[in-house]
Formats: sequence, structure tokens, C-alpha cells
Amino acid sequence: MTEQRYYIFGPCAAESEDQVMQTAKQLKTGLSVPFIFRAGIWKPRTNPQSFQGIGEAALPWLQRVQNELGISCITEVATAEHTQRCIDAGLHYIWIGARTVTNPFMVQEIADTIAVHRHKSTLKGIFVKNPVSADLPLWTGAIERLRKSGIENIIAIHRGFTPTVDHSSQYRNSPIWSIPIELRRLYPAMPVICDPSHIGGKRELVATIAQQAADLAFDGLMIECHPTPETALSDAQQQLTPEELIKTVNAIQWHEFQETDQRLQELRRQIDETDEQIWQLILSRMQIAKQIGEHKQAHNLPILQTARYDEILQKRLEWAEENGIDSETVKQIMDAIHEAAIGQQIKR
Ligand code: PEP
Ligand code: MN
Repeated sequence: MTEQRYYIFGPCAAESEDQVMQTAKQLKTGLSVPFIFRAGIWKPRTNPQSFQGIGEAALPWLQRVQNELGISCITEVATAEHTQRCIDAGLHYIWIGARTVTNPFMVQEIADTIAVHRHKSTLKGIFVKNPVSADLPLWTGAIERLRKSGIENIIAIHRGFTPTVDHSSQYRNSPIWSIPIELRRLYPAMPVICDPSHIGGKRELVATIAQQAADLAFDGLMIECHPTPETALSDAQQQLTPEELIKTVNAIQWHEFQETDQRLQELRRQIDETDEQIWQLILSRMQIAKQIGEHKQAHNLPILQTARYDEILQKRLEWAEENGIDSETVKQIMDAIHEAAIGQQIKR
């Protein structure tokens, strides 16, 4: 958690000068917090038939927002060429998108381009989204490349990870909060903001995820909005109207984070005690798994018996449901324990 809070609002993509100006004006009038105006102009679309963005022809629209409305703008860059265009246009911020962060060569080219212009560009900060895969070192690697090029104001954006475990997930991109939390542990001075629009993928989820980010003391939010979301040329399902966005932002409760008090200390002591018991139990479970492994080997039985694991898992998922615990989380814990047990059995 850092002092400053970053808010980034605006459409997924710039579609027309009117749409850009209208959205920016409406947000400026309705919001009481300072914000950066976002609009994608080069859109990294999965499908080549989809709207690919207006391209550099939309840069003058963002210049108008900066010059006439006094609102700093941000857009996504995926190449050195995009970066150069944004610097030439005098944009205040850029972000590197989730797909680009997966490619160290592209990140390096972008970092080099920013570094070359460092002393005369108007860039005030570089935002770095997490890579699409749940790969923390790839995210920190991108941050390190930027740092090594002398770029100082780096802000991370958590936008969730392509779901691999459970395709029935309610999210477009799984939040896996433990990853941005670990990022903050590694880089305590770097702000980390959350993008609930791309995590949720649906308007109905945006407010809840934004509040969760506030509860977890993120340093700000990136939220997409469009004057008529249903006709948006990209991400139509997740964009809010400017009115909805203003309402959502006003409703978010940010907490004053006092480090600790007596009640918290007592509860933390109980957590430590419980953790100790959990680890003792995991240790005994591993020892039993090892014995099972020895027994299986002695009697030529297969190590992995899927039906048995399925039975254990189903029981736990029912238990999760009865106790109101997120089943995806329980599955991840069970998978990790099972993986460790198999490791015990094939190690011999
Ligand atoms: C976006 O912000 O519109 C976008 C393309 O995001 P991401 O890189 O998170 O998919
Ligand atoms: Mn989008």
C-alpha cells in the first residue's frame, strides 16, 4: 500500500472522437477523485476479424482530452513503434498489456524506447499488467527490464489470469489474489492496482471485485466504461456506462490500514496456532501417503488411482459448498496436497 491512489477510467477502445470526448467529459463532471483517462487504440485482439483499434489516428483525440480537459491519458503499447508514437504525442502514461508482458523481447524493446527519451518525454509513469499466464517471475521480469532501463515510476496492474484449472469459473480471468499479494511483498514500494473489468468480464461483477481490491489494500483501480456498452466494439459485456462507473467508484469503501491492534494480535496468535496444527496434519498425511506408496509398490498397484482421488475431491467440494467456502480455492488446495502426496510416492 502506497500513499497515492491511481484511478484509470475510460473505454476499452477509442472508437470515435465523440465517444472519447463525451466519456471523458462525463467522467470529469461526475467524479470527485482525480483519474487518468484510458482508451486502447492498438487492441491486442485474439481474433483477427475483431475490431483492431483505430491506431495512431486516435492519438489526437487523447491529446484533446489532455489539453482541453486537463486529464492525463493512457493507452496500451505493444511495440517500440507504439511507444514512440505515444511519446511523440506527449501522452502522460502508457501501459503494457497482458499479452505483451508474456514476451520479454517486446518488453525490452519498449523499455529501450522509453529509456532513450527519458529526459525529454512527458511520460509520468509506466503501468505493467500481469502476463496472461499465472507466472509471477514473468511479471517481475518485465518490471525488472523497465527498472534496468532507468524507468522509475512503475505501477503494476492485476487483471487476472487465463483460467486453466476450472473453465466453469465465473470470472473471465481468475483473480488468484495470492500472486499480486506476493508481488507486493517483493516490491513494497511499488503501487499495484486492480482491473476488475478484465477479471470479471461481466459488468455485474465489476463492483464486487473492485471492493475486494479495496479490501486487500490495492493502490487503485482501472475500470472500463463506454457511453453505450452494449454497442462497444470490444469488451461490450464488461464495460459500465459513465453513470454506473461514477456510482461504483463512489460506493467503494477504502479502509484506513492501521498496522495492528490488540484484538488483531490475539487473532493472529490463534492463526499461528492453527497453522501449526494444519502443518502437523499435513506432515502426518504425507507420512501416510508414503506408506501407501510403499504398500502399492510391494503389491504392484498403480500409484495414481483417479477414481479414488475423484472420490476424495468430490467429498471436499461438497464440504466446501456446505461451509460456504469457494470451491475453486478448495480444489486448488486439494490438488496441491495430492500433488505432494504423489511426489512422496514416486520419489522412492
Ligand atoms: C485492455 O485493457 O483493454 C486489455 C486489452 O487488457 P488486457 O491486456 O488486460 O487483456
Ligand atoms: Mn478491454
